[in-house]
Amino acid sequence: MNIILLGPPGAGKGTQAKQIQEFYKLPHISTGDILRENINNNTSLGLKAKSYMSRGELVPDELLITIIKDRLSKKDCEKGFMLDGYPRTIPQADALQMILTESGEIVDAVVNISVDDEELIKRLSGRRMCKCGTSYHVMFNPPEKEDICNTCNGKLYQRDDDRSEAIRNRLNVYKKQTQPLINYYDSKKILRTIDGSKEIPQIFEDIKKVLDEYDQ
Ligand code: ADP
Ligand code: ADP
Ligand code: ZN
Repeated sequence: MNIILLGPPGAGKGTQAKQIQEFYKLPHISTGDILRENINNNTSLGLKAKSYMSRGELVPDELLITIIKDRLSKKDCEKGFMLDGYPRTIPQADALQMILTESGEIVDAVVNISVDDEELIKRLSGRRMCKCGTSYHVMFNPPEKEDICNTCNGKLYQRDDDRSEAIRNRLNVYKKQTQPLINYYDSKKILRTIDGSKEIPQIFEDIKKVLDEYDQ
């Protein structure tokens, strides 16, 4: 099963992805995590991406298409994969389709997590991240020990782009560049929209209902 998690920044894609990964044994491919790892390791890709990311803008399509092509060619994607944060533009979606067509594959389902702006701002401004990719929230989803990751004991941090100016910009960028993907995938009849304003476990139940319709 090849799936895409779609939704604005802060919708809960990463949070749900961790649970989907475990339950369905699908590799979780987060382009945001891949880019942040490159920034931490000072790679040339990281250097190119850094300024776009800190401003809350999208990193150019060519770079993302190269990243995703490379990642999907890895062995762990043979039995399916889950994309989180890709595609974010129509050209990225077209490129994905070309990559998959070459190997006779398709996108089975696009899970669109919908949350209103006011809630997104609360979620993003209270988000704390771990280097392992797990995200927490100071009020809505706090770690067991303050500022320490439950799964790897890493020290939590606040992302640069989770500060107020970049948050606004990311929500605008989402509306202009990523929201058109809702119609793009809806017209292919593979879009399933989930109410992302519910509690974390309830959303996971709703996602399972959608995914259980597909062959594994
Ligand atoms: P969130 O899920 O909170 O919106 P991500 O971790 O997915 O954040 O992405 C963080 C940043 O990384 C984005 O604001 C953007 O600068 C960059 N990025 C991630 N994925 C993509 C993509 N597919 N296309 C362009 N830029 C991307
Ligand atoms: P995304 O990957 O879509 O940007 P995250 O999964 O990182 O979103 O979630 C954004 C923030 O909102 C995090 O602080 C997370 O703990 C919190 N969060 C996620 N899902 C919910 C929910 N259903 N209710 C309240 N807070 C949530
Ligand atoms: Zn961790």
